Amino acid sequence: MSEQDNLALAELLFPNVTTTPEEMEALYPVRELPEGAKVTRMAPSPTGFMHLGNLFGAITDERLAHQSGGVFYLRIEDTDQKRAVEGGVETIIRVFQEFGLPFDEGATIDGDNGKYGPYRQRQRAHIYHTYAKDLVRRGLAYPCFCTEDDLAEMRKQQEAEKANFGYYGKWAVHRDMPLDQIKENLAAGKEYVLRFRASGDGIQRFKLKDLVKGDLDMPVNDQDVVLLKSDGIPTYHFAHVIDDHLMGTTHVVRGEEWLATLPIHVDLFRALGFKIPKYVHTAQLMKMDGSSKRKLSKRKDPELALDFYRAEGYPVASVKEYLMTLLNSNFEEWRLANPTAELDQFKFTTNKMSTSGALFDLDKLRDVSKNTIAMLPAEKVYEEVAGWSKEFDPQLHELLTRDQAYATAIFQIGRGGKKPRKDIAVWSEVKSYLDFFYDELFVPGGDYPEHTSREDILAILEGYLPLYDEGDDQNAWFDKITNLGVSLGFAAKTKEYKQNPDAYKGHVGDVSMVLRVAITGRTNSPDMYDVMRILGKDRVVERIENAINRIKSK
Ligand code: GLU
Repeated sequence: MSEQDNLALAELLFPNVTTTPEEMEALYPVRELPEGAKVTRMAPSPTGFMHLGNLFGAITDERLAHQSGGVFYLRIEDTDQKRAVEGGVETIIRVFQEFGLPFDEGATIDGDNGKYGPYRQRQRAHIYHTYAKDLVRRGLAYPCFCTEDDLAEMRKQQEAEKANFGYYGKWAVHRDMPLDQIKENLAAGKEYVLRFRASGDGIQRFKLKDLVKGDLDMPVNDQDVVLLKSDGIPTYHFAHVIDDHLMGTTHVVRGEEWLATLPIHVDLFRALGFKIPKYVHTAQLMKMDGSSKRKLSKRKDPELALDFYRAEGYPVASVKEYLMTLLNSNFEEWRLANPTAELDQFKFTTNKMSTSGALFDLDKLRDVSKNTIAMLPAEKVYEEVAGWSKEFDPQLHELLTRDQAYATAIFQIGRGGKKPRKDIAVWSEVKSYLDFFYDELFVPGGDYPEHTSREDILAILEGYLPLYDEGDDQNAWFDKITNLGVSLGFAAKTKEYKQNPDAYKGHVGDVSMVLRVAITGRTNSPDMYDVMRILGKDRVVERIENAINRIKSK
């Protein structure tokens, strides 16, 4: 088609578009940012399903931007209405808020915030149409009237010829349709999509550096992809290129599933005369399934959904900490050297990102989480558990908040010091960890040491009743238990007992175990000195008395 025909076609297809790319450029001026500042974005579709992959990318985006004094923004990619769900945008915003990944600009609960909006693609139709019209004018886009059936037929033929699928080369049948024929089709009311005139011939190649994948050598795009669907809505390919350009994105962080279509995007950036951003294609999250690795799947793996972590009560800090171990290979080493440093003090770099699948392992996350929780102050643990239980365990919430000081004292046990206790991995385990501190949850019973006789158990419990004094320090407390044991024929030290087992009924550990079972109903508990002090004398005495009665009544 001649230049003139192109201009005529542009008017025919977009009679109402009067804006020009230059005007758009003026509306979205280049950002004034310090040298080296990176601009990144999260660009999710509002499907209502937020998954680990989103978080993985968002942490990368957020770190790259905020470490460099740049901007991290949220753009809603809502062009595909079939995928959009009611409340999807709110879910996205809530999740990133919860995970402590603050956006500097973009979509918010109450509209948009920032100068580069609108930040929701459906509100940007006029912008896409402006560029689409310009591409038509320059002969770089054209209408294609192929129906679904035509395309299905084409696909069959391609299959038979063992040709690549798609709309390219000789298969791009409407590429050079004369203007008159286009006019006829339009007059007949035929539906059309707007396609891009690709620059590649299927042979040429180009080079590009991806910040994770390294040097890429790929075929120049030869696919005449759809830019605007028949309803005028842009495809992802077209919309994101325009948005990332106008919004000044410097680094496009996205999952490696987009790598295959990178040639299309590069071709579009070039055709539109835009500078190509840096690409950061992040590795897929994988998991072990038996002895083989596979991609995490929405259908099979509940742990893919971010809601899973919320419901289980994984602290945000744990999930972020663990994802960081997957994101940067030198993170764990840094953490060992800086056990108490804030996560944000770690220098995140794309150089240390893994190029192939990152192996996600829930057990590893649990370990990381135990460590993370062990480092939190008791007040923070209280606050987090109170927040979690409010939504997921109202009974626990009621018990904890009824006496904040009491609950905090429980969380204080074994905290601080060189070797903090690591018994809690998720907030949903807290209840069974501390149930015996609350009469409402306490289940009496539990197994006394097998080799301790009924008489000795009773003697220990009855003998201890008059001894417990809340004023004792840990040494005095322990001496009383030891002395009681010795008076009943137990060895004061495990070693003594082991050297001469026939001379004793057991050792001091058995004596404490009897007390532990009577008071907590279990054989495993945090430090009994702390436990008794928190429970208070009345309750210690009451539980021992009840235990005595239970044994006697059997
Ligand atoms: N809307 C795309 C998605 O949800 C975004 C990909 C990108 O970040 O460019 O996967």
